Amino acid sequence: MPHSMTDLLIQEKLPENPQFSDLDMIFLVFLLKKIGFKDEKRLIAYLEGVIKVYGKNEKTRISRYHGGRSITNYNSSRCFGLLSMEIAIRENLELIVSIDSKHNSLISATDLANFCFCPVSYSISKSLEVKFPTNLRSRSIGTGLHEQLRLISRLPKQYLENTDSKNYTPEAQKIKKIRGCKLIFAGHTKERKVFINESEKFIGQPDYIFQDPNGDYFVVEEKFHAVQPGQYDNQLVQLQAYIAYITEYDIKYGVLINWSYDFHFQTYEPFINDVKIKVVKSEKDFSLLTKIHHQLKVFQNKKELNLSRNPNVNKCISCVVNKYCSHKAGYQTKVKFPYKRDDLRLKKVKQPEVLWEYIRDKPTIDIVELYDYENEFTVNTQSETSRRGKI
Ligand code: SF4
Repeated sequence: MPHSMTDLLIQEKLPENPQFSDLDMIFLVFLLKKIGFKDEKRLIAYLEGVIKVYGKNEKTRISRYHGGRSITNYNSSRCFGLLSMEIAIRENLELIVSIDSKHNSLISATDLANFCFCPVSYSISKSLEVKFPTNLRSRSIGTGLHEQLRLISRLPKQYLENTDSKNYTPEAQKIKKIRGCKLIFAGHTKERKVFINESEKFIGQPDYIFQDPNGDYFVVEEKFHAVQPGQYDNQLVQLQAYIAYITEYDIKYGVLINWSYDFHFQTYEPFINDVKIKVVKSEKDFSLLTKIHHQLKVFQNKKELNLSRNPNVNKCISCVVNKYCSHKAGYQTKVKFPYKRDDLRLKKVKQPEVLWEYIRDKPTIDIVELYDYENEFTVNTQSETSRRGKI
């Protein structure tokens, strides 16, 4: 039985969720209203994304490359987990640690990419310690694949010769060409070298620098996606920054490699199934980089930015810092730098009566325990790393 306009919209917009009961949906809407969503269309769009992205039960998914079909089951507890965690974090604002942004005099390639992705995300990541990032699992899969498939060493042969995907072979030729070039630099290694350009106040560490058979230097940046690989402005800005601002080598061009992965239908292990490659030449138009770099400097100086439009809901759903962001609800027209913790205060929303019994059976999140666990884990990791002399 619908309880409000929102319930009606849910029934109309999300008819494919028979695995969620009416009470599940009413509870999710209640959580989103506490988080700050007022506009019903935006709330529905965000809820739809939360269910699609976090509600998927990946272990029941049949890979399209192994069964020719895909079955998606949804699991409501992961959606509750995501939103309840955000509420627990925002109920304990005093536990969110602020970062002193005055020490950050250099702008990194990642800062430029973050700012291009969303200025709010840049402000949050520079102002607050994000102890509980969203999408941790896909980030760690990306890191794991990055390590496993290092262009320079262990890219498995079958990925170069797999002809399952029509697009694969020509891209595989490009990968082979890159692998045939001389490796000059590999980032994300124990060496921890970074490239600094004092005049541009830039710092960066690309994934790789190679030298081709003509003697030209080029940078390579790799990204990993659980869906079809796309190419985005923020990735382009990051690559352009390496090409334009690294001075130690005369970088002539950059290569953006976007891998996509799926999960094996029996082992659930991620495996690479497609790749898209984009080459950016140094003589090409870099006006996007110039614009983003300028806007970022202005934002740092003025400490405030007018948002020309509401943040894109699809970006918000996959955003790493979304649990620390009040802007995703879409009613703020400015963002401050540093980001204000107080803006994260939850909204007072009357709990629908039908939820009293339903909520009683839900496990609660003890956020203080989670912070303690996270601290302990960080301390242990650091002492373990120092003990082994890796820093
Ligand atoms: S949740 Fe949305 S508005 Fe907030 S930082 Fe992320 S992308 Fe930007």
